[in-house]
Amino acid sequence: MPQPGPGRGTTAGRMLDLLRANGTLSRVELAERTGLTPATVTHTVRRLIGAGLVDEIGPGRRRGRGQPRRLLELNADAWYAVGIQVDRTTTTIVVLDFAGERIAGVGLRGSGSGGPEATVAALAEHVSELLRGSGVPVERVLGAGLVTHGPQDRERGVLLTAQPAPEWLEFPLTDALAERLGVPVLLENDATAAAFGEQWAGALPTDTFGLVYMASGVGGAVVVDGENYRGRASNAVEIGHVALNGGNASCVCGNRGCAQAEAGPHAVVERALADDGLAARLGVRGTPDHTLGDFERIAKAWRSGDADAEAILECSARWIGRAAVTLVNLFDLDTVVLAGPAFATAGELYRARIAAELEERALSRALSRPQVRLSASTETAAALGGALHVLRAMPIDPEPPAATPEGAQ
Ligand SMILES: [Zn+2]
Repeated sequence: MPQPGPGRGTTAGRMLDLLRANGTLSRVELAERTGLTPATVTHTVRRLIGAGLVDEIGPGRRRGRGQPRRLLELNADAWYAVGIQVDRTTTTIVVLDFAGERIAGVGLRGSGSGGPEATVAALAEHVSELLRGSGVPVERVLGAGLVTHGPQDRERGVLLTAQPAPEWLEFPLTDALAERLGVPVLLENDATAAAFGEQWAGALPTDTFGLVYMASGVGGAVVVDGENYRGRASNAVEIGHVALNGGNASCVCGNRGCAQAEAGPHAVVERALADDGLAARLGVRGTPDHTLGDFERIAKAWRSGDADAEAILECSARWIGRAAVTLVNLFDLDTVVLAGPAFATAGELYRARIAAELEERALSRALSRPQVRLSASTETAAALGGALHVLRAMPIDPEPPAATPEGAQ
């Protein structure tokens, strides 16, 4: 069993975060950036080196007079973490090493209409295969971040929604997956995880931004000073369920006119299906498990110049733009990131339309021009964020990697 160790927020956890983000740092730089005393830094670094989590890698550049400073870096092979994003139409799995480098990944079909039992079994099999293929022993896996739509009860590891089917409501998702994988599993909201992933991989010029996540549904996240705004129970910023003026479509949440109901991939596909000739021309089928596949067909038609496909996507993008205006006005943002598989094919159209809506309507436009950016990893940001959350939050067994039993490889 992992012992309580340098989880997030502890002195050691903050140092590990800094080393993960910066690659290499000296003890002096760690002291400068944490505000801790040199004695505390020296003591903690000794403990981290002893636990096999940090390596000392020779001298850095001399700064002024005195000895060159010895640099520290994370021992990338000390631990690994798995990130699993799953919804009805897509699954993405990534494996990160302790330094946060992606060492393996795979994109698969979503849960479809299979129930949670079958989905968890399939996920466990895919994860085990990926770990085997990349030579990572499960004993060195710190945990898995399971990323999916909300609302969720993260503490109990269950979904508080009957989406995509009634048997998902209150199913013990993290317990069932942890039992099959043999590692702890943390539940995380897909948009929140994508914001983590974007902070890590996206080279954003700011640490305060909003994020709109579009997969089968529409979600949102807000990061303030580098921290995700979580609300009371981490179900914050459900921008897909903000009712929009003029909207009337009934939504799975019980309201009418929600952004997700008016503009999500399902609504886009429905709009194409309303015209038999158009649906046939674009090859849109309308089966619920293939919503994103149908959405991609419409997006591809737009890319090849189809005016009808463009009109349908423009309509969706305008609604999402208005939801983004609400997001920006509520949280005083100047940057909105778009992430999620739906933006992989139609991202540029959405980016331009959402930017236009913000430039026209967001209150903050008077101060600075709102920026809308496509995620650096539209399809994988959420899975990346799930794995990073594990690296940052999970208590770590202080035993050094050398203690791995022989033959565990
Ligand atoms: Zn709703």
